[in-house]
Amino acid sequence: MNNFDCVVVGGGMVGAASALSLANLGLTVALIEQHQPHCFDKSQALDLRVSAISLASEHLLTQLGAWPQLQQWRLCPYKRLGVWEHQASYTEFNADDIEQSHLGHIIENRLVQLALWQQVKNHSKVTLFSPANLESFTQSANEIAITLVDNSAVTEQGKTQKITAKLLIAADGANSQVRKLANIGITGWDYQQSAMLINIETQTPQQDITWQQFFETGPLALLPLPGKSELGGYASLVWYQGKDEIKRLSSLSCEQLQVEILEAFPQRLGKIKVIDKGAFPLTRRHANTYQKNRVLLLGDAAHTINPMAGQGVNLGFKDVKALQTVIASAIGNNECWHEPNILSRYETKRRKDNLLMMTTMDSLYVTFGHPSPAVKLFRNIGLAMANKIPFLKKKALAYACGV
Ligand SMILES: Cc1cc2nc3c(=O)[nH]c(=O)nc-3n(C[C@H](O)[C@H](O)[C@H](O)COP(=O)(O)OP(=O)(O)OC[C@H]3O[C@@H](n4cnc5c(N)ncnc54)[C@H](O)[C@@H]3O)c2cc1C
Repeated sequence: MNNFDCVVVGGGMVGAASALSLANLGLTVALIEQHQPHCFDKSQALDLRVSAISLASEHLLTQLGAWPQLQQWRLCPYKRLGVWEHQASYTEFNADDIEQSHLGHIIENRLVQLALWQQVKNHSKVTLFSPANLESFTQSANEIAITLVDNSAVTEQGKTQKITAKLLIAADGANSQVRKLANIGITGWDYQQSAMLINIETQTPQQDITWQQFFETGPLALLPLPGKSELGGYASLVWYQGKDEIKRLSSLSCEQLQVEILEAFPQRLGKIKVIDKGAFPLTRRHANTYQKNRVLLLGDAAHTINPMAGQGVNLGFKDVKALQTVIASAIGNNECWHEPNILSRYETKRRKDNLLMMTTMDSLYVTFGHPSPAVKLFRNIGLAMANKIPFLKKKALAYACGV
C-alpha cells in the first residue's frame, strides 16, 4: 500500500505513541524510523537514557496497550519527590498528597519505545518502515507526497519509495528534518550547562524517592532505578554543571568519578559504585508554529525543554493525546479531519501549555543559578513556604504529574 491517512516520521517514544493513537481511530498510518531499537533482554545492564514517566503518560501508555509489557520488563515506581537548596528548605512531595499510589515511574527510554513498537507491529492499521529515512516531501492542496529511503532492502544504497498521505507528523526529535524541510523556524538557545547521566549501584535497596538539591552551578539529582545490585540497588544520577566541568568529569575513569561524586553529592547518597556514564548538551527550542498546512510537529520536534523537572517526553505524550482528541472529535462531528483549519486546533490546545512549562523551567533555572544572597534567601523561603501551604503543594504536584 502506498496511500496512507497519516505518515509519522520518527519512531521514538512520541512518534510510536502517535502512530498507535491515530491507528486506534481507524486511520491508516505509516511510521518511518531510521534506527531499530535493540531487543530487550533481562540480563542487559540498565540503559543510561531514562525518563520520569508521569501519571498522565502512564494512562496514555495503558490506553495504547504498552503498559503491561513495561511492567513485565522493568520500571521503578516512585512515591516521593524531595527538593531543597539549603537543608532547612527541604520540601517533600508525596503521592498521598494527591490521593495517588505513586507519582510516576523511572523507565528506560528504549523500553518505552520497544513496548510501543510491539503494539505497532501487531496493529493492522500501521505499516512500519524501518530502518528507513525520510528523504523529501512536497505538499499539494489535498495531500502530501513523501519520498523515503528504505534501508531494510538488500541494496547498498537502499530502495527509494514514494508514499502519499493526508497528514505528515514530524516526531523526528530536536533536530527535526521535517521541520527544516517545511521551513518552520525555531527560537531557542543552548544552556550554559550540560548534564551528565551516571548509572550507579547504591547501598540502599530499590528506593521510592527521587530527589534534587539545587546549587548555583546546577542541580544534583537522583532517580531511583529498578532491581537489586551486589551493593543493594540501582539509581541514575544527574549532574548539571558548566560545559567545561562536564567535559572534565567525562574524561575521568569510573573510579575517579566515584570519588568526585561522593564529594559533591549530598551525604544521603551513601556508598555507591559507578557503572556507566555519559554527557548530554542542554538546549531549549520552540518551533515558531506547530503546523504548516498538513504538516504537524509533535514532541521534541516542536519543543525541547530543560530536563530539570523531567517533563520533556511527558509534554510530547500530551501532544499525542491532544492530536488524537482533535481528530477523534472531528471524525465524530463528521468534519473533514485532515483539513488544515481542523488540524490547527491541535496547536491551539498545546502551544500555551508547552510554553508555560518551558518558561517555568527557565525561571527555576535562572532563579536557582543566581549568585545574589538576596535571591538565595528568597528562593529558600519560597521552597520552605511551599512545604507549609498544602493547597499550593497539591496544585504544583498535580500539574507536574499531569492529573
Ligand atoms: C539529560 C536528559 C534527561 C531527560 N530526562 C527526562 C525525563 O526524566 N522525563 C522526560 O519526560 N523527559 C526527559 N528528557 C527529554 C526526553 O528524553 C525527550 O523529550 C524525548 O526523548 C523526546 O522524544 P521524541 O520521540 O519526541 O524524540 P526522540 O527521542 O529524539 O526520537 C526521534 C526519533 O526520530 C528518528 N529520526 C530522526 N530523523 C529521522 C529521519 N529523517 N527519518 C527517520 N527517522 C528519524 C530518530 O532516530 C529517533 O528515533 C530528558 C532529556 C535529556 C537530554
